[in-house]
Amino acid sequence: MTVFNLGSINADLFYDVPHLIAPGETLAATRHFRGLGGKGANMSVAVARAASRVVHIGAVGADGRWAVDRLLEYGVDTRHIVEVDDPTGHAIIMVASDGENAILIHPGANHAVTETHIADALTEATEADTFLFQNEISSQVAGATQASARGMRVVYAAAPFDAQAVKAVLPLLDALVMNEVEARQLSDAIGVSLTDLPVRDIIVTLGADGCRWLNTDTGEDQTFPAIPVTPVDTTGAGDTFTGYLVAALDRGMPMEQAISLGQQAGAIMVTRHGTADVIPDLKDVQDARL
Ligand code: ATP
Repeated sequence: MTVFNLGSINADLFYDVPHLIAPGETLAATRHFRGLGGKGANMSVAVARAASRVVHIGAVGADGRWAVDRLLEYGVDTRHIVEVDDPTGHAIIMVASDGENAILIHPGANHAVTETHIADALTEATEADTFLFQNEISSQVAGATQASARGMRVVYAAAPFDAQAVKAVLPLLDALVMNEVEARQLSDAIGVSLTDLPVRDIIVTLGADGCRWLNTDTGEDQTFPAIPVTPVDTTGAGDTFTGYLVAALDRGMPMEQAISLGQQAGAIMVTRHGTADVIPDLKDVQDARL
């Protein structure tokens, strides 16, 4: 029971600025901060925080060794994160004094992950393991194909939305996790409603309204209300929810319990500022008894 997570690793470079930069303008930031980010890294940290085993499959440049060390500190197995010539993926996040932001992402090393690299990592996997992936990475369709052929549980967090990738992997999936916007984009792209998708478990997160679980085998369609909290920063709530959900499913927990754990972790996450570095651990979740 191990989660093999094929995913992005980014340096999140935050810059506080008086206002968002205009075309042609040169502007001095008033504060700078570097954090660990990327949907893949966030989810790996969440799985590890949820006390499940997680092997991260990904790539960084020589400038990203600190990110690998950070993942290791959080309990992520980093043996299958390779170092490539490209720079580590990064996001330049400008935050204006009125709270508005603008984000520039460079995928860098995240797009240097190859089929062979994934195959090397998955030689360790068994049918009892879970393969998790998102879209901020290269070779994700090949990865899902390999995992499905090995009989692994395949879970896809379809973000950021990618119509071509989602169409290619739909027949391979055991579970699909999306937010409301991605769910709408998917229905528009393939022209069928969620209930007609060839995936057994479909989970749509609804922010402060909780989440919806569609079981296409039984036709059940349930909505679970969110845990009421006062949010201060919703960044990373979705990644934390998904990491906890997948960690629980990998341990054999039923879907209702996995959703409940994901929602508790997601609710704590929105009460904290930051991303990977502030994902709650299982003890925080149990102590909060939300
Ligand atoms: P992000 O992209 O910001 O990480 P997302 O859009 O992928 O988020 P959301 O649907 O916003 O994901 O949130 C994921 C889960 O986190 C929700 O299903 C819910 O359980 C929890 N959550 C999010 N916002 C709140 C909130 N305001 N109050 C309580 N729980 C929340």
